[in-house]
Amino acid sequence: MSMTCSTELTLVYTKARTFLGLATPTTASSAASSLSTATNTASAMDHLSSPLKTKVCIIGSGPAAHTAAIYAARAELKPILFEGWMANDIAPGGQLTTTTDVENFPGFPDGILGGELMDNCRNQSHRVGTQIFTETVTKVDFKSFPFKVFTDSQSVLADSVIVATGAVARRLKFTGSGDGPGGFWNRGISACAVCDGAAPIFRNKPLAVIGGGDSAMEEANFLTKYGSKVYIIHRRDNFRASKIMQNRTLTNPKIDVIWNCVVEEAYGDGEKGVLGGLKLKNVVTGQVSDLKVSGLFFAIGHEPATKFLDGQLELDSDGYVVTKPGTTQTSVRGVFAAGDVQDKKYRQAITAAGTGCMAALDAEHFLQEIGSQEGKSESSL
Ligand code: FAD
Ligand code: NDP
Repeated sequence: MSMTCSTELTLVYTKARTFLGLATPTTASSAASSLSTATNTASAMDHLSSPLKTKVCIIGSGPAAHTAAIYAARAELKPILFEGWMANDIAPGGQLTTTTDVENFPGFPDGILGGELMDNCRNQSHRVGTQIFTETVTKVDFKSFPFKVFTDSQSVLADSVIVATGAVARRLKFTGSGDGPGGFWNRGISACAVCDGAAPIFRNKPLAVIGGGDSAMEEANFLTKYGSKVYIIHRRDNFRASKIMQNRTLTNPKIDVIWNCVVEEAYGDGEKGVLGGLKLKNVVTGQVSDLKVSGLFFAIGHEPATKFLDGQLELDSDGYVVTKPGTTQTSVRGVFAAGDVQDKKYRQAITAAGTGCMAALDAEHFLQEIGSQEGKSESSL
């Protein structure tokens, strides 16, 4: 079913949320918490004079990077890991530091805060022997061997490299979209329906998704399991999503499409401090209308963190690192990629961790093949 955005919809909010917006760890607090484990973090200044050497250099700090580090360290490869410093505006620890409860990562029956999960990962990878630097990698040289990895203050010679720099979900900015006072980010607004959609705040409530690609279709269909109704708000009058995904969406009786509209403002639901609805603007007629929803999900694409690679690995048309199917091998032998930086389909912490494990095992096999483990390039650490 489709409708115009001048349609006014009203549904009453009835249930307090338990999931979103109660104790959102900010990127700053997560960064502070990361730095509170500063004993784990080597000082870059100690190594300005000569390059470090390692068998495995891991770039990134999300579930993929730390899983790779745990496996590589336990294989006695003495990994060096660059966790970044507000790389892509995200604290060390990656995307999960920007959310509250993670309820779908196995092993935590009561859920766990995203920041806490990533602190645990970091502590575990340090405990098993990973050398962690709180620096962002700015440049790489994969054309010579050993590979070179650069930050602003030092360089590393590495026999193998694991790229696990993740991706950033694009967010829209409008009144009420932020995470400060008066904003509803994590209080009804999210960029991950699969992660947050099952939260009680969204159950049997009208929800909205912004976007017209495959992600928007997938997220809208997913949300119909929880919401009373799902609106797709799209800025044009047709979708770019694949035909099969479009058909599935347009024939779902719980989904309505609001064409030619953009969100101008998000407002709250009375005293509760959570999202209550949206002001929409029709980009063709200019008409402004009201849409009562308890959830809004951005599905307007992701930005993989691959700019620093400067064309040295094969990327797909959306900028994701291309890996050989079933492996983490990139276009350069000895360089591996794990997590969201090479995955535009699943984008989950557990799948990132899974590919992080694969990357460490792939790197270990590569090092065995080239004889590095016999001391060809002995770690200086
Ligand atoms: P990321 O988590 O993307 O982390 C990579 C990190 O590497 C970057 O953030 C940065 O700190 C660092 N980095 C980047 N570039 C550089 C560089 N050049 N040098 C050094 N360091 C660098 N998934 C779930 O399974 N369950 C959930 O409940 C869930 N909730 C989510 C909620 C939100 C709001 C978001 C945005 C995502 C959520 N996800 C969830 C998805 C999950 O966070 C990601 O799939 C996962 O974090 C990807 O892990 P990753 O290891 O690939 O990298
Ligand atoms: P896409 O880039 O394909 O789509 C993004 C959508 O968001 C577009 O419809 C775009 O509108 C809209 N958009 C972008 N910016 C704005 C904005 N500022 N305001 C409003 N709307 C905006 O991203 P996806 O994440 O959907 O897909 C990325 C890739 O991943 C694709 O190759 C896709 O096929 C793939 N994918 C595959 C899946 C599957 O096979 N199951 C699932 C998910 C993704 P417009 O169209 O007007 O540009």
